[in-house]
Amino acid sequence: MNLANLDRAELEDALARQGLPRFRGRQIFHWIYGRGVTDFAQMTNLSRDLRETLGRTLTIDTPAVRSKQTSTDGTTKFLLSLSDGREIEAVFIPDTPAQTFCISTQVGCAMACAFCLTGKMGLVRNLTAGEIAGQVRVLAHETGLAGKPFNIVLMGMGEPLHNYDETMKALRILVDKDGLGVPLRRITLSTVGLVPALERLAREPLMPNLAVSLHATTDEQRSRIVPINRKYGLKELIDTCKKFPLKRRSRITFEYVLLNGVNDTPEDARRLAKLLADVKAKVNLLPLNEAPGIPFTRPSDERVNAFARILADRDIRVSVRRSRGRDIRAACGQLIVEGQRPSAGQRLSREMGRL
Ligand code: SAH
Repeated sequence: MNLANLDRAELEDALARQGLPRFRGRQIFHWIYGRGVTDFAQMTNLSRDLRETLGRTLTIDTPAVRSKQTSTDGTTKFLLSLSDGREIEAVFIPDTPAQTFCISTQVGCAMACAFCLTGKMGLVRNLTAGEIAGQVRVLAHETGLAGKPFNIVLMGMGEPLHNYDETMKALRILVDKDGLGVPLRRITLSTVGLVPALERLAREPLMPNLAVSLHATTDEQRSRIVPINRKYGLKELIDTCKKFPLKRRSRITFEYVLLNGVNDTPEDARRLAKLLADVKAKVNLLPLNEAPGIPFTRPSDERVNAFARILADRDIRVSVRRSRGRDIRAACGQLIVEGQRPSAGQRLSREMGRL
């Protein structure tokens, strides 16, 4: 049994079934997430006998750091390998002013957005809750931030709501006070807008901040660059966002990748302002991070500023995401792990591309 895949209650249950008191489960959960210890031999508040027995029968699978690359701006990209040899990337973004971990929820992604490199991989497989929470566990201990405040954004490889159950379980693990105890307000889930999953998320007791990747203002345009729009159109998506339960003073972030000459005209900006007029929204503009194989270019700063100005003039809150780690391909939409074996998931993702 792999303990990393269990939330605290499940871990307590599992050990109780082996005849151990529940507090042992809590102690071990704390070793794993609170202390970053995965070797039973080092769990010094357990008896030597118990440590040996546990070590013989249980594992705590942990993503292994294969390589680290640090950008001139301090952003560090981690290549992590999983127990089946698959690889993913996770990114540490310092001083924004917060410390932020950008983590993956899938190996690859099925959504095939036209401007995103991860989309080119197709979906290889879902990550388990242990692998999702494990990225934070590894990065927090690698960067010395365990026990200190940091933010988590589910904006690495993958579509979190396309791996719903494991993502939600990972959140339960991450917020647990016996573990890393990350406050929910420091966690942001970013989704391409899978409407049924968003409706389900709206009923969750554990509610992270929500970011929705919009990227276009007409169905015609959005379907071209975000293929899932052919299934869940703009009206349906915006209606779902309007109904989404938000805490007082909180807003949904709408991400909007600016593609030069494609969706960045003054007309697009005006349509965007109109679309979001009755939504508790803020807009985060992402000037495209270019990459080989991506058939778009990044607009000039003047175009980006003109777009932002039109929104601001219409009382839409707007910010421009300063991209980080572009020199090491760690920026939004640049995460890709090449040379992975094709899988059933990749076939599925090709089908998704044809929706
Ligand atoms: N699947 C989730 C998380 C994706 S990554 C989602 O769709 O929201 C987070 C953000 O980066 C998304 O808004 C995504 O559309 C954006 N992104 C993808 N490729 C990009 C690129 N090349 N340049 C800038 N932003 C990009």
